[in-house]
Amino acid sequence: MQFKAIYRTAQHPILSIELFPPKTEKGRAHLEKELAQLMQHQVGFVSVTYGAGGSTQNNTLDLVKRIRAQYGVTTVPHFTCVGASRQSILAYANRAIAEGAENMVALRGDPPRGQTTFVPAPDGFRYAYQLVVFLKERFGDRLSLAVAGYPEGHVETRDLATSIEHLKIKVDAGADLVITQLFYDNADFFRFRDMAVKAGINVPIVPGLLPITKYSQIDRITKLCGASIPADLTKLLLSFEDGSPDQQMAGIAAAIDQAGELLENDVPGIHIFTLNNSFATAHMVEALGHYFE
Ligand SMILES: Cc1cc2nc3c(=O)[nH]c(=O)nc-3n(C[C@H](O)[C@H](O)[C@H](O)COP(=O)(O)OP(=O)(O)OC[C@H]3O[C@@H](n4cnc5c(N)ncnc54)[C@H](O)[C@@H]3O)c2cc1C
Repeated sequence: MQFKAIYRTAQHPILSIELFPPKTEKGRAHLEKELAQLMQHQVGFVSVTYGAGGSTQNNTLDLVKRIRAQYGVTTVPHFTCVGASRQSILAYANRAIAEGAENMVALRGDPPRGQTTFVPAPDGFRYAYQLVVFLKERFGDRLSLAVAGYPEGHVETRDLATSIEHLKIKVDAGADLVITQLFYDNADFFRFRDMAVKAGINVPIVPGLLPITKYSQIDRITKLCGASIPADLTKLLLSFEDGSPDQQMAGIAAAIDQAGELLENDVPGIHIFTLNNSFATAHMVEALGHYFE
């Protein structure tokens, strides 16, 4: 099912989850188990990251194909412009469509490690909106596209108003959905959403949530992507040993509160960055499952 239909026809908010393709046999066996747990919930769609952490495009499409075949759930590949020529973009999208994809998350990607600025590939694209234009020109309604939004502004464009102008360009180019970067202060999301709506962005804006189960790990991720963890949440989490069961439960409780407030305030769904673990998602669904029925 395409994004548009998923959000238009639902009588309730949509729970969606993000996974990454494991690189090792151990990682694959782990994901197998975790996926079986995750798929017991009312999952509207699964998205699979691309390239992040060094995975290859085959890993993404292979995992997408396998999950779709095994669980019959809408499964969506991500794609980034990193190192991608127009020809390789076409090859990727053609394979994805041939294997049953109706959606894609269209991204620019981050500069490779060691580089500070993004350098487009020869015959490739500098910005995600160019990828959206290209995919829409070539594939039209065969692919419904989601793009990334940044409640605290993108790390390279800290100014929120400018970030939203850039988001508007991506949506006007043909995106049907915005999924946000992780954030921990709902005030950031509500401000971002208000500004986006005022700017004329009228596709669903789905908050992306990453429950904190190991503070040091998430602190690193937030610093890389320019998100912040509020001081009171940091203080609470640092009162427990890093990654301890107490810290995990405090992080999950905070994620439940955060998601609960969002769901009470008209979000079309929540998108959980699972990091391939079902534990936090299971707790969140146990507490908030009634919203997704
Ligand atoms: C939900 C989600 C999923 C993600 N999945 C992945 C993944 O699978 N793999 C991965 O590697 N990364 C992933 N990312 C990270 C993403 O690739 C990075 O955040 C990247 O730095 C920006 O990608 P983008 O698509 O938002 O780029 P863009 O929208 O192109 O923005 C990149 C920068 O350029 C600026 N900009 C955009 N348009 C213009 C313009 N017209 N003129 C001037 N400046 C402009 C923006 O403000 C921003 O600073 C994901 C992020 C999110 C939120």
